Amino acid sequence: MPKLLIVEDNETNRDMLSRRLARRGYDVVLAADGAEGVAKAGTEEPDLILMDMSLPVLDGWEATRRIKAAAGTRGIPVIALTAHAMAGDEARARAAGCDDFDTKPVDLARLLGKIERWLAAGVAELETSLPARRESLAPLLEFVERACAGAGVDGEAAFALRLAAEEVCANVIEHGYAGREPGPLRLRFRREPGAVVLVVEDRAREFDPATAPAPDLESGLEERQMGGLGWHLVRRTMDEVRHEPLPGGGNRVTLVKRLSDAGG
Ligand code: MN
Repeated sequence: MPKLLIVEDNETNRDMLSRRLARRGYDVVLAADGAEGVAKAGTEEPDLILMDMSLPVLDGWEATRRIKAAAGTRGIPVIALTAHAMAGDEARARAAGCDDFDTKPVDLARLLGKIERWLAAGVAELETSLPARRESLAPLLEFVERACAGAGVDGEAAFALRLAAEEVCANVIEHGYAGREPGPLRLRFRREPGAVVLVVEDRAREFDPATAPAPDLESGLEERQMGGLGWHLVRRTMDEVRHEPLPGGGNRVTLVKRLSDAGG
């Protein structure tokens, strides 16, 4: 399920809203002040942020400005929540970078409508438990195609992202679970201003793509170089490839493809 970050200093409001959203099936993480909100936007990678504006340490306007200034978090939609429905409040929140605005006390149906609209616009997610077979790739690649189409991304960017997703997922399926139980793969697609981002998380054996053997096409490919060939291709087609080990085992690979003006 999509992950929501609630940044709210009032404990009663925070608990009530998080319970109501968790009951709707959202994965909810919490922050009690603006600085914690900025930090968790980076570490938790939420799909959407609900930002109270009057907050200690850093207020919601400044926290939003920092979230929208950082490359890793600026694509996350931020909905401002404010208790004072004063004229000018909404304009001030939008000037700070908030994508949407709502008032407290929360009207849950109305807020859910906004949350769902923003999630549908920018984020898609698929989690699947895979047997370690090549055929498992088809639903994953269909997901990437659907997500690209839904975000209006086509042409070379969509083709390159699908190709990179195939290489990364095939690599995990064929090599990551060797001698282990196959585990789930989690794909998250995000449309950012000027770029599309695909995050692939697995629970496979940890690897570091930087140590993949370099393919040598001149002297013929050995089987052990196939992974290296895949990573070579991924690096050539993506603008950015990040890898980090997940706490508790596994890998997170972040693929970034920048969009040219013509590319959607
Ligand atoms: Mn507050």
